[in-house]
Amino acid sequence: MEPPLNPAASAVQSGHLYVVATPIGNLGDLSPRALEVLRGVDAICAEDTRNSAGLLNHFGLRKPLLALHDHNEEQVAAGLVARLAGGESLALISDAGTPLVSDPGFRLVRAAREAGLPVVALPGPCAAIAALSISGIASDRFLFVGFLPAKSSQRRAALEELAPQTATLLLYESSHRIADCAVDLAAVLGDRRVCIARELTKLFEQSEAMPAAGLPAWIAADANREKGEFVLVVEGAPRQQATAAADVERILRVLVKELGASQGARLAAEITGRKKRELYEMSLGFGGAADGTGNREG
Ligand code: SAM
Repeated sequence: MEPPLNPAASAVQSGHLYVVATPIGNLGDLSPRALEVLRGVDAICAEDTRNSAGLLNHFGLRKPLLALHDHNEEQVAAGLVARLAGGESLALISDAGTPLVSDPGFRLVRAAREAGLPVVALPGPCAAIAALSISGIASDRFLFVGFLPAKSSQRRAALEELAPQTATLLLYESSHRIADCAVDLAAVLGDRRVCIARELTKLFEQSEAMPAAGLPAWIAADANREKGEFVLVVEGAPRQQATAAADVERILRVLVKELGASQGARLAAEITGRKKRELYEMSLGFGGAADGTGNREG
Protein backbone atom coordinates (compact mmCIF):
# COMPACT_ATOMS: atom_id res chain seq x y z
CA MET A 1 0.00 0.00 0.00
CA GLU A 2 1.27 3.49 -0.83
CA PRO A 3 2.22 5.50 2.28
CA PRO A 4 -0.03 8.55 2.73
CA LEU A 5 1.62 11.71 1.42
CA ASN A 6 1.89 14.93 3.32
CA PRO A 7 -0.53 17.15 1.34
CA ALA A 8 2.09 19.92 1.43
CA ALA A 9 4.55 17.51 -0.16
CA SER A 10 3.55 17.55 -3.77
CA ALA A 11 2.14 20.99 -4.41
CA VAL A 12 3.45 24.32 -3.27
CA GLN A 13 1.04 26.03 -0.92
CA SER A 14 0.71 29.67 -0.06
CA GLY A 15 2.20 30.89 3.20
CA HIS A 16 4.56 27.91 3.46
CA LEU A 17 8.31 28.04 3.99
CA TYR A 18 10.09 25.17 2.20
CA VAL A 19 13.57 24.28 3.44
CA VAL A 20 15.17 22.67 0.40
CA ALA A 21 18.38 20.62 0.33
CA THR A 22 20.46 21.13 -2.82
CA PRO A 23 23.38 19.11 -4.24
CA ILE A 24 26.83 19.12 -2.57
CA GLY A 25 28.48 18.63 -5.96
CA ASN A 26 26.62 16.38 -8.36
CA LEU A 27 23.61 18.27 -9.71
CA GLY A 28 21.86 14.97 -10.34
CA ASP A 29 21.26 14.83 -6.59
CA LEU A 30 18.58 17.54 -6.65
CA SER A 31 15.40 15.60 -6.01
CA PRO A 32 12.45 15.87 -8.41
CA ARG A 33 10.34 17.10 -5.52
CA ALA A 34 12.88 19.79 -4.63
CA LEU A 35 12.81 20.92 -8.24
CA GLU A 36 9.01 21.03 -8.23
CA VAL A 37 9.00 23.16 -5.10
CA LEU A 38 11.69 25.53 -6.39
CA ARG A 39 9.66 25.89 -9.55
CA GLY A 40 6.45 26.55 -7.66
CA VAL A 41 7.41 29.02 -4.93
CA ASP A 42 7.08 32.78 -5.28
CA ALA A 43 10.70 33.47 -4.30
CA ILE A 44 13.82 31.70 -3.09
CA CYS A 45 15.93 32.80 -0.12
CA ALA A 46 19.54 31.98 -0.88
CA GLU A 47 22.80 32.33 0.99
CA ASP A 48 24.74 33.55 -2.04
CA THR A 49 22.37 34.68 -4.76
CA ARG A 50 25.04 34.51 -7.50
CA ASN A 51 25.94 30.95 -6.61
CA SER A 52 22.29 29.92 -6.47
CA ALA A 53 21.53 31.66 -9.76
CA GLY A 54 23.94 29.15 -11.34
CA LEU A 55 22.02 26.23 -9.85
CA LEU A 56 18.65 27.64 -10.92
CA ASN A 57 19.89 28.43 -14.44
CA HIS A 58 21.06 24.86 -14.80
CA PHE A 59 17.51 23.70 -14.15
CA GLY A 60 15.94 26.44 -16.27
CA LEU A 61 14.34 28.14 -13.27
CA ARG A 62 13.77 31.88 -13.12
CA LYS A 63 12.79 33.06 -9.68
CA PRO A 64 13.32 36.14 -7.58
CA LEU A 65 16.28 35.45 -5.28
CA LEU A 66 16.37 37.03 -1.82
CA ALA A 67 19.70 37.18 -0.01
CA LEU A 68 19.71 35.54 3.39
CA HIS A 69 23.08 35.01 5.00
CA ASP A 70 24.75 35.09 8.40
CA HIS A 71 25.22 38.86 8.27
CA ASN A 72 21.66 39.90 7.41
CA GLU A 73 19.45 37.06 8.64
CA GLU A 74 18.49 38.83 11.86
CA GLN A 75 17.36 41.90 9.90
CA VAL A 76 15.56 40.19 7.01
CA ALA A 77 13.82 37.35 8.87
CA ALA A 78 10.91 39.51 10.06
CA GLY A 79 10.27 40.84 6.55
CA LEU A 80 10.32 37.33 5.10
CA VAL A 81 7.89 36.12 7.75
CA ALA A 82 5.60 39.05 6.85
CA ARG A 83 5.68 37.94 3.21
CA LEU A 84 4.78 34.39 4.24
CA ALA A 85 2.00 35.68 6.46
CA GLY A 86 0.76 37.69 3.48
CA GLY A 87 0.36 34.46 1.51
CA GLU A 88 3.61 34.15 -0.45
CA SER A 89 5.37 30.82 -0.57
CA LEU A 90 9.15 30.84 -0.05
CA ALA A 91 11.94 28.31 -0.42
CA LEU A 92 15.14 28.46 1.58
CA ILE A 93 18.31 27.05 0.07
CA SER A 94 22.00 27.35 0.93
CA ASP A 95 25.08 27.17 -1.28
CA ALA A 96 25.16 23.40 -1.00
CA GLY A 97 23.48 20.65 0.97
CA THR A 98 20.94 21.07 3.72
CA PRO A 99 20.21 24.60 4.94
CA LEU A 100 20.89 25.24 8.65
CA VAL A 101 23.62 22.56 8.73
CA SER A 102 26.65 24.87 9.18
CA ASP A 103 24.60 27.24 7.05
CA PRO A 104 22.14 30.09 7.61
CA GLY A 105 18.40 29.72 8.06
CA PHE A 106 17.89 28.97 11.75
CA ARG A 107 16.55 32.40 12.64
CA LEU A 108 14.16 32.44 9.71
CA VAL A 109 12.81 28.96 10.48
CA ARG A 110 12.35 29.83 14.13
CA ALA A 111 10.64 33.13 13.30
CA ALA A 112 8.28 31.38 10.87
CA ARG A 113 7.40 28.79 13.49
CA GLU A 114 6.87 31.44 16.14
CA ALA A 115 4.48 33.16 13.75
CA GLY A 116 2.56 29.88 13.43
CA LEU A 117 3.50 29.43 9.77
CA PRO A 118 4.07 25.99 8.24
CA VAL A 119 7.69 24.99 7.60
CA VAL A 120 8.20 22.02 5.29
CA ALA A 121 11.42 20.01 4.81
CA LEU A 122 12.61 18.92 1.39
CA PRO A 123 15.33 16.52 2.54
CA GLY A 124 18.34 15.66 0.47
CA PRO A 125 22.13 15.96 0.32
CA CYS A 126 24.14 16.69 3.45
CA ALA A 127 27.92 16.23 3.39
CA ALA A 128 28.13 15.10 7.03
CA ILE A 129 25.50 12.38 6.63
CA ALA A 130 26.90 11.27 3.28
CA ALA A 131 30.37 10.87 4.84
CA LEU A 132 28.99 9.06 7.88
CA SER A 133 27.13 6.64 5.65
CA ILE A 134 30.32 5.49 3.92
CA SER A 135 32.78 5.82 6.82
CA GLY A 136 32.52 2.38 8.36
CA ILE A 137 32.55 4.17 11.73
CA ALA A 138 29.71 3.60 14.21
CA SER A 139 26.61 5.38 12.98
CA ASP A 140 24.24 4.53 15.85
CA ARG A 141 25.06 7.75 17.73
CA PHE A 142 26.78 10.76 16.23
CA LEU A 143 27.46 14.36 17.16
CA PHE A 144 27.53 16.97 14.43
CA VAL A 145 30.31 19.39 15.34
CA GLY A 146 30.76 21.25 12.05
CA PHE A 147 33.81 23.49 11.77
CA LEU A 148 36.37 23.48 14.61
CA PRO A 149 38.01 26.81 15.53
CA ALA A 150 40.51 28.15 12.99
CA LYS A 151 43.35 28.66 15.48
CA SER A 152 45.33 25.56 16.36
CA SER A 153 45.38 26.19 20.14
CA GLN A 154 41.60 26.64 20.19
CA ARG A 155 41.11 23.67 17.89
CA ARG A 156 43.10 21.43 20.21
CA ALA A 157 41.13 22.70 23.19
CA ALA A 158 37.89 21.93 21.34
CA LEU A 159 39.11 18.43 20.48
CA GLU A 160 40.14 17.82 24.10
CA GLU A 161 36.68 18.86 25.20
CA LEU A 162 35.16 16.47 22.66
CA ALA A 163 37.50 13.59 23.57
CA PRO A 164 35.22 11.97 26.20
CA GLN A 165 32.26 11.89 23.77
CA THR A 166 31.28 8.34 22.96
CA ALA A 167 29.28 9.40 19.92
CA THR A 168 30.95 9.49 16.51
CA LEU A 169 32.04 13.06 15.70
CA LEU A 170 31.24 14.72 12.37
CA LEU A 171 33.58 17.60 11.47
CA TYR A 172 33.69 19.92 8.49
CA GLU A 173 36.95 21.33 7.21
CA SER A 174 38.15 23.47 4.34
CA SER A 175 41.19 23.03 2.11
CA HIS A 176 43.00 25.90 3.91
CA ARG A 177 43.04 24.10 7.20
CA ILE A 178 42.73 20.38 6.56
CA ALA A 179 46.47 19.69 6.99
CA ASP A 180 46.73 21.63 10.26
CA CYS A 181 43.50 20.13 11.52
CA ALA A 182 44.84 16.64 10.79
CA VAL A 183 47.95 17.38 12.87
CA ASP A 184 45.82 18.47 15.83
CA LEU A 185 43.49 15.51 15.44
CA ALA A 186 46.49 13.16 15.43
CA ALA A 187 47.91 14.85 18.55
CA VAL A 188 44.71 14.76 20.59
CA LEU A 189 42.84 11.68 19.31
CA GLY A 190 45.61 9.77 17.54
CA ASP A 191 44.35 6.31 18.47
CA ARG A 192 40.83 6.93 17.14
CA ARG A 193 39.73 5.77 13.72
CA VAL A 194 38.95 8.56 11.30
CA CYS A 195 37.43 8.62 7.85
CA ILE A 196 38.40 11.55 5.66
CA ALA A 197 35.88 12.19 2.90
CA ARG A 198 36.73 14.82 0.29
CA GLU A 199 34.84 16.17 -2.69
CA LEU A 200 31.87 13.87 -2.15
CA THR A 201 29.74 13.35 -5.26
CA LYS A 202 32.28 15.33 -7.34
CA LEU A 203 34.84 14.32 -9.95
CA PHE A 204 37.73 13.82 -7.52
CA GLU A 205 35.68 12.23 -4.76
CA GLN A 206 37.81 10.26 -2.31
CA SER A 207 37.35 8.66 1.10
CA GLU A 208 39.79 6.76 3.25
CA ALA A 209 39.64 5.42 6.81
CA MET A 210 42.68 5.10 9.07
CA PRO A 211 43.89 5.78 12.63
CA ALA A 212 43.94 9.55 13.21
CA ALA A 213 47.67 9.34 13.95
CA GLY A 214 48.26 8.46 10.30
CA LEU A 215 46.16 11.26 8.82
CA PRO A 216 48.86 13.97 8.51
CA ALA A 217 51.17 11.61 6.58
CA TRP A 218 48.32 10.41 4.38
CA ILE A 219 47.46 13.98 3.42
CA ALA A 220 51.13 14.94 2.88
CA ALA A 221 51.67 11.97 0.55
CA ASP A 222 49.78 13.62 -2.33
CA ALA A 223 49.28 17.36 -2.89
CA ASN A 224 45.79 16.69 -4.28
CA ARG A 225 44.65 15.32 -0.94
CA GLU A 226 44.64 18.82 0.52
CA LYS A 227 42.29 20.12 -2.15
CA GLY A 228 38.54 20.48 -2.01
CA GLU A 229 35.94 20.19 0.72
CA PHE A 230 36.23 17.75 3.59
CA VAL A 231 34.26 15.87 6.17
CA LEU A 232 36.11 14.08 8.97
CA VAL A 233 34.23 11.28 10.68
CA VAL A 234 35.94 10.52 13.98
CA GLU A 235 35.32 7.48 16.14
CA GLY A 236 33.95 8.27 19.60
CA ALA A 237 35.57 7.38 22.93
CA PRO A 238 35.20 3.76 24.02
CA ARG A 239 31.99 3.41 26.04
CA GLN A 240 33.85 1.95 29.04
CA GLN A 241 36.02 5.05 29.31
CA ALA A 242 32.88 7.16 29.40
CA THR A 243 31.43 5.13 32.26
CA ALA A 244 34.65 5.79 34.13
CA ALA A 245 34.21 9.47 33.30
CA ALA A 246 30.80 9.42 34.96
CA ASP A 247 32.48 8.00 38.08
CA VAL A 248 35.07 10.76 38.21
CA GLU A 249 32.71 13.27 39.76
CA ARG A 250 31.51 10.79 42.39
CA ILE A 251 35.09 9.95 43.42
CA LEU A 252 36.07 13.60 43.43
CA ARG A 253 33.10 14.61 45.58
CA VAL A 254 33.93 12.02 48.24
CA LEU A 255 37.62 12.94 48.37
CA VAL A 256 37.06 16.69 48.33
CA LYS A 257 34.54 16.39 51.15
CA GLU A 258 37.05 14.50 53.29
CA LEU A 259 40.31 16.17 52.29
CA GLY A 260 39.50 19.56 50.78
CA ALA A 261 39.77 20.63 47.17
CA SER A 262 43.52 20.55 46.67
CA GLN A 263 44.25 17.19 48.30
CA GLY A 264 41.02 15.69 47.01
CA ALA A 265 41.79 16.73 43.43
CA ARG A 266 45.33 15.37 43.72
CA LEU A 267 44.16 11.94 44.88
CA ALA A 268 41.26 11.87 42.41
CA ALA A 269 43.76 12.62 39.64
CA GLU A 270 45.90 9.67 40.72
CA ILE A 271 42.88 7.36 40.84
CA THR A 272 41.23 8.44 37.60
CA GLY A 273 44.19 9.50 35.46
CA ARG A 274 42.57 12.91 34.88
CA LYS A 275 44.51 16.14 35.23
CA LYS A 276 44.67 17.53 38.77
CA ARG A 277 43.90 21.09 37.64
CA GLU A 278 40.83 19.93 35.72
CA LEU A 279 39.54 18.09 38.78
CA TYR A 280 40.33 20.98 41.08
CA GLU A 281 38.37 23.33 38.85
CA MET A 282 35.53 20.83 38.68
CA SER A 283 35.47 20.67 42.48
CA LEU A 284 35.00 24.43 42.70
CA GLY A 285 31.67 23.95 40.99
CA PHE A 286 30.50 21.73 43.86
CA GLY A 287 30.01 24.81 46.06
CA GLY A 288 31.99 25.23 49.24
CA ALA A 289 34.53 22.78 47.89
CA ALA A 290 37.60 24.87 48.56
CA ASP A 291 39.90 23.57 51.28
CA GLY A 292 38.88 24.13 54.84
CA THR A 293 42.52 25.09 55.25
CA GLY A 294 42.03 27.94 52.77
CA ASN A 295 44.63 26.16 50.68
CA ARG A 296 43.75 27.12 47.06
CA GLU A 297 45.38 25.61 44.04
CA GLY A 298 48.06 27.84 42.50
N1 SAM B 1 24.92 22.64 4.49
C1 SAM B 1 26.00 21.83 3.99
C2 SAM B 1 25.67 20.36 4.18
O1 SAM B 1 24.50 20.02 4.30
O2 SAM B 1 26.57 19.53 4.16
C3 SAM B 1 27.31 22.21 4.63
C4 SAM B 1 27.71 23.64 4.42
S1 SAM B 1 29.24 24.06 5.12
C5 SAM B 1 29.24 25.79 4.93
C6 SAM B 1 30.38 23.61 3.88
C7 SAM B 1 31.27 22.46 4.34
O3 SAM B 1 30.59 21.23 4.15
C8 SAM B 1 32.56 22.32 3.55
O4 SAM B 1 33.58 23.19 4.02
C9 SAM B 1 32.90 20.88 3.78
O5 SAM B 1 33.48 20.72 5.04
C10 SAM B 1 31.51 20.24 3.75
N2 SAM B 1 31.17 19.82 2.38
C11 SAM B 1 30.31 20.42 1.55
N3 SAM B 1 30.28 19.75 0.38
C12 SAM B 1 31.14 18.72 0.49
C13 SAM B 1 31.55 17.69 -0.37
N4 SAM B 1 31.06 17.59 -1.60
N5 SAM B 1 32.45 16.79 0.07
C14 SAM B 1 32.95 16.89 1.32
N6 SAM B 1 32.59 17.85 2.18
C15 SAM B 1 31.72 18.76 1.77
